[in-house]
Amino acid sequence: MELLYQSTRSKGIKVTASQAILKGLAGDGGLFVPERIPGLDVSLEDISKMSYKETAYEVMKLFLTDFTEAELKECINKAYDSKFDTGEIAPLAEKAGVYYLELFHGATIAFKDMALSILPHLLTASARKINISNEIVILTATSGDTGKAALAGFADVPGTRIIVFYPKNGVSRIQERQMVTQKGANTSVIGITGNFDDAQNGVKAMFNNKELAKAMEGHNYQFSSANSINIGRLVPQVVYYVYSYSRLLAKGAVKPLEPVNFVVPTGNFGNILAAYYAKNLGVPVNRLICASNENKVLFDFFETGVYDRNREFVLTSSPSMDILVSSNLERLVYKISGEDAETTANLMAALAKDGRYTLTPGMKADMECFTGGWADEGKTAAEIKRVYDETGYIIDTHTAVASAVYHSYKEKTNDNTVTVIASTASPYKFATSVMGAIDSSYKGTDDFVLIDELSRRSGTKIPPAIEEIRTAPVLHDTICKTEDMQKEVEKILGI
Ligand SMILES: *Cc1c(COP(=O)(O)O)cnc(C)c1O
Repeated sequence: MELLYQSTRSKGIKVTASQAILKGLAGDGGLFVPERIPGLDVSLEDISKMSYKETAYEVMKLFLTDFTEAELKECINKAYDSKFDTGEIAPLAEKAGVYYLELFHGATIAFKDMALSILPHLLTASARKINISNEIVILTATSGDTGKAALAGFADVPGTRIIVFYPKNGVSRIQERQMVTQKGANTSVIGITGNFDDAQNGVKAMFNNKELAKAMEGHNYQFSSANSINIGRLVPQVVYYVYSYSRLLAKGAVKPLEPVNFVVPTGNFGNILAAYYAKNLGVPVNRLICASNENKVLFDFFETGVYDRNREFVLTSSPSMDILVSSNLERLVYKISGEDAETTANLMAALAKDGRYTLTPGMKADMECFTGGWADEGKTAAEIKRVYDETGYIIDTHTAVASAVYHSYKEKTNDNTVTVIASTASPYKFATSVMGAIDSSYKGTDDFVLIDELSRRSGTKIPPAIEEIRTAPVLHDTICKTEDMQKEVEKILGI
């Protein structure tokens, strides 16, 4: 049966999956959501015998019903190939009784690769389906990892251009170097003098600017988004939750139907929303534990039912989670409103106007499967050291936030449910913070010196993604003010 998509903010207009992927954001500023969340049509026991790619097909075919089997399999095969350094694609590492789901084995060593290695193929396949001949311009705001993963995914893909905005002082040195050294004639990278929310708002404003769209059309361009609001990002992320559960089944770590906890270090709420969709798909889940850093808007939200972005923005050692407005949360709000677009639109209008909104008690009760938690900088660093001292395993700062939150949760609740922590970045990407946490004598040492130390201490090989940028020349050096983002785009496109 065909599954259509509609906006979280208005009923009526329904589009196919490929149209939703191409448009990114709905015309009314809402996010596309499936008219219903499908259920798996194969058993998890059957999936436990499948490869990652086979699992990806079983999950994605449920959401992308207007793709043929051949089209979808071609996209999957092009994405999950030797760009990943392991055939398992998303291996589970068991350390001291907890499972770390390693989502950082792709080209840019962070979990964004899981979706951004397939999005360009989904997007170009979608354009072919709809007979679009415009060049597709990918406009992206990044808090660090999305930008590089999107650049790597789209570089030199025919029929596409990619423009990435990042907060100049809000990403790690390695993240910045990864982006500004990006090759590809169709790539542009721009630092802005604001923070991630400013970058995201600037991108959203351009998407909603009808005049700009008209000017673009006149030059045979159209925007699409590679941000985590695109359902072409969300759907591939559902896969690894299904896959990780099936691996636990395969190794006998859980019995059929035995629920697990997923702990997810959260920023824009895309990764954990995918876990929620996996639960709705039929993966047995006890708790979805949403881990925040000091920007703990989501923790407060799950505690109180009030979303309030009116607070100081904190720069932390887990920059990909330094976010005050988690865009994908709108999809959860829509679901717990009883799929009520009007209610969702009203709450989002309140967020835009006052920076806050309050859920009804009924809506709050409907998100009961979520537990919020947060870890400050001290706890995060202490967790990196604790895990290293106890197991020799080195986790990155984002994963450490989740690991610390889980550790406190377990002490408080004595919940013995089998638990999977989403491990979202390689420690090599955040070497300064990670090594400083393990041994304070490393503090202040250059990232590139520390990666050799990290390799020695962890007994792991330096990933090629890191080796490459040591010597690569800087190819992008534009910096602009937040209010000049559109001017930069017009300059790049010559409109
Ligand atoms: C993007 C990112 C996150 C946050 O994921 P969301 O889907 O935005 O919640 C966490 N950790 C790392 C390393 C990331 O790159």
